[in-house]
Amino acid sequence: MFEEIKAYCNNENAQLIAVSKTRSCAEIELIYNKGHKDFGENRVQELVEKNAKLNPDIRWHMIGHLQTNKLKLILPFVHLIHSVDSIRLLDEIQKQAFKIDKNVSVLLQMKIAFEATKYGFKKEELTQVIKKVNGNEYPNVTVKGMMGMASFVEDEHQIRSEFKTLNTLFELVKSKLSQTDNFNILSMGMSQDYNIAIEEGSNMIRVGSLIFGKR
Ligand SMILES: *Cc1c(COP(=O)(O)O)cnc(C)c1O
Repeated sequence: MFEEIKAYCNNENAQLIAVSKTRSCAEIELIYNKGHKDFGENRVQELVEKNAKLNPDIRWHMIGHLQTNKLKLILPFVHLIHSVDSIRLLDEIQKQAFKIDKNVSVLLQMKIAFEATKYGFKKEELTQVIKKVNGNEYPNVTVKGMMGMASFVEDEHQIRSEFKTLNTLFELVKSKLSQTDNFNILSMGMSQDYNIAIEEGSNMIRVGSLIFGKR
């Protein structure tokens, strides 16, 4: 399936993140050896271990909920954090990135699903985020866009409408940021819904099971 999805992404001008959580280093290397460099993990410990073992030119994407006390383990090498879901986390990334003199790229994770378990900002919280970003409170952080997960349901209309909501929020934030050159990633779509996500404007999909098999 990897080749098909990669070709589909190239055709749609979308970036593919191979979600490798729970997969072994050997499984990751199989995909890496096909020329793929972008991999996504959702747990800090697993990410740190795999980073130590695998080729340093892999671009690691953190896609899972992050605790502030674990940030310093991944900031030195992480390529993009998709899962920034609170101002407190954003503040802490700034603090720690400053200490190691790095600039860290992040996405704002939005809560778009109706399910109660999903992390993410609510729309109302964006005003404050925008204010802080525009007020140059995050010189060591580059906010590159947004991420979201649709509800885990069969109903295509539901999924589509959640992706539409995220795309609208993405455009809204973009229109309010004073610096928009770097704000251009819309990370949405997984194995079950990536086609719908791309139709609704996604330019980065995070696919695990379709590439590696069922977890
Ligand atoms: C696990 C995960 C994915 C990939 O899920 P699949 O259904 O295996 O494609 C994508 N995004 C996030 C945030 C995940 O945790």
